[in-house]
Amino acid sequence: VAFLLFPQATDRYPLPERVFIQPWGGRIRRGPSDDTMRVVDGLDKAPYDPPLSTPPYRGPVAPPAEPGPGGGFDHLPLGSRQFMQAHLFGCTRLSLNVWEAYLGRAVRWFDAETYPTLELTPLVNWPNAQSGPGFLEMGIVENEQGQLRPYCLNLDVVAHEVGHAMLFSQLGVPAPGRLSAQFLAFHEGIADIGTLLTALQFDSVVEIVLEETGGNLYARNEVNRIAELSSSEQIRIADNTVTMQDVAAISLAADGTWRDAAGLDRNAHGLAEPLTGALFDFFVDLFQDGLVSRGLIPPDGDARGWTRQEVDRSIARLDAAFRWNLRRFEPAFRSAVRDARDGVGLCIGAALEFLDADDFSFDAFAGAMVRVAGPLVGHRARNALIEDFTWRGIKPAHAPLRTEPLPARPRYVASAPLVVQLRAAACCMPGRPAPHGSGLELDRIIRKEHRAPS
Ligand SMILES: [Zn+2]
Repeated sequence: VAFLLFPQATDRYPLPERVFIQPWGGRIRRGPSDDTMRVVDGLDKAPYDPPLSTPPYRGPVAPPAEPGPGGGFDHLPLGSRQFMQAHLFGCTRLSLNVWEAYLGRAVRWFDAETYPTLELTPLVNWPNAQSGPGFLEMGIVENEQGQLRPYCLNLDVVAHEVGHAMLFSQLGVPAPGRLSAQFLAFHEGIADIGTLLTALQFDSVVEIVLEETGGNLYARNEVNRIAELSSSEQIRIADNTVTMQDVAAISLAADGTWRDAAGLDRNAHGLAEPLTGALFDFFVDLFQDGLVSRGLIPPDGDARGWTRQEVDRSIARLDAAFRWNLRRFEPAFRSAVRDARDGVGLCIGAALEFLDADDFSFDAFAGAMVRVAGPLVGHRARNALIEDFTWRGIKPAHAPLRTEPLPARPRYVASAPLVVQLRAAACCMPGRPAPHGSGLELDRIIRKEHRAPS
């Protein structure tokens, strides 16, 4: 079903792209709506505050978006309320499709008995966004240039909220007295990683990331540009060097408020940083592994012996080598990004099955990730994952044994893209075989311990 979506809410994407979204939630009808979610565009609506106020919304609503002659929603004028309705629906369905692909099954809302369909509100009078029982609603903010930016037009913000809803559906909520600081931080971290996995479904985003980093996702601080693509302050992805020791001062008081003994006023988002950092490192590991297996860079030498000075001297040369190769073999670089994205997503989707909301810890999640990683992404990548967690001070705990083998996980994303872009067909370079012994000068891969200071 055709939609017009902004892949990212920044000036790099002044116009929305026409994309086709798989109707995994049933036929997409006026609203838009399907069997799992519906847009209800309340006028002058205040944000819900459960349990004081909850869906369904019963006030006045704007006229709903009607599908065009082909059944799509790509005909609505930019700037109309109906465009915003369709944009919110498209982003929500897309990011849910992404998680469903990685989970290998449909997401059933946590509170489906009370709220069988999720109510989507494009615009509430509030400079924030939230998801809660039966709803997902988007506010509006003014940016530094004084422009009003509705969050319903920001894929990252929508995907973040969908990540929360997905996690509640998979893990539920902890029993009274069992809520931990790390459970809340995990929610924020996975919601943020979900925005990365969703944005990277767009070929245009993959292209820009590669272009801006020259294909070397660890070069200098250029990898941070993945985060810079997101103008929303909600998004803290993901390249950081924060360890558990750095966040040891953050705690959750019995009354549910966050305390930061270091006086930095941090909360769940701060506590999540070592986790998102480790997952981002894993993404880069998989990407670099993919480049090696495509013959684009030689296998990792013993980079750990490098001193910071040696790395600094090498970086210019490494940058040049990556850029030279990226220009020649861009399709292979792009497929390496997509494989890395799917590797991270599939591992998270499989690991969630081992987790218990009542007994949650980063260590338990890391243990589950390590447990599923071997069959899904190979043992070399699994070992890199262990190193990624350990470096952050997260110790993979022994995950409980499964009684059944891991379900076969169809590669939805590779066989049937979640986003099909019209422009992708026009911009694809003809595929070229990966070179072997390409005479590449690059001899080592930069390890995260040796990133140049930003
Ligand atoms: Zn959040």
